[in-house]
Amino acid sequence: MDQLLGAHVFVEGGVDSAISKADEFGFTAIQIFTRNNNRWVSKALSEKEISSFKEKRKSSQIKVIVSHDSYLINLCAQNPEILEKSRKAFIDELERCEQLEIPYLNFHPGAHGGQGEDEGIKMIAESLNLAHEQTKNFKVKSMLEATAGQGTAIGYTFEHLKKIIDLVEEKDRMCVCIDTAHIFAAGYNIKDPKTYDAVIKDFDSIVGLELLKCIHMNDSKKELGSKVDRHDHIGKGFIGLEGFTNIMNDKRLDGVAKILETPKGKEQLEDLENVKTLLGLIK
Ligand code: ZN
Ligand code: MN
Ligand code: MN
Repeated sequence: MDQLLGAHVFVEGGVDSAISKADEFGFTAIQIFTRNNNRWVSKALSEKEISSFKEKRKSSQIKVIVSHDSYLINLCAQNPEILEKSRKAFIDELERCEQLEIPYLNFHPGAHGGQGEDEGIKMIAESLNLAHEQTKNFKVKSMLEATAGQGTAIGYTFEHLKKIIDLVEEKDRMCVCIDTAHIFAAGYNIKDPKTYDAVIKDFDSIVGLELLKCIHMNDSKKELGSKVDRHDHIGKGFIGLEGFTNIMNDKRLDGVAKILETPKGKEQLEDLENVKTLLGLIK
């Protein structure tokens, strides 16, 4: 498979279990959680777990690994206690990535909770600056994910992403992830080939395609501009096969990791189906 393509893979037991499963599925790009995504505190990774992860990865066909941070983390939380916990947990996430030699930590910018978008954007950048300062010389990059704009979520325009990056001091620690379901719900029409091209050009001129390292490949259960974040199987939602045909045949996106976050059972057999569908769209 030439494409950097795969899915979010579940960890069962040690983080290395995800590598085994991804390899079995033939994925070349994957995403994992390196800690329980619904808890504030997680047990440290053991030396054994880390070395097994690295060993397995070396002999696998996986080319890109992304870590997704915990859903609890909000880098612009209004509540000081939650903000403090979020910043701590984010640093822990970066440390885990560094230990595992994972190049990208994907995270949702945050929800401002009523304090306003400008204030939220400033706070997110401040959180990132603090985190980068405490993880000096780390190789892992903080990967900002575009959002659907549900509730008070920041990150539903390319301008939001750009504003955050502009306020981050160590710019080379930053990169970006587009989630197809999110940006479609945010109002970016990637389904129609005519508007699709304009969306990519827009992203390039505002953020820069060189910063795009990952695309979350999700169809959307909700309409264009709905601002509601609900992932669907490829071709089953409002983006449809048309939208994913645009992406799979876009040469500008060849080097970008494409990772599914579509609904699935424990065995993840649905991921195999969705990968097959995506590969079938290549002309
Ligand atoms: Zn996400
Ligand atoms: Mn996503
Ligand atoms: Mn989502």
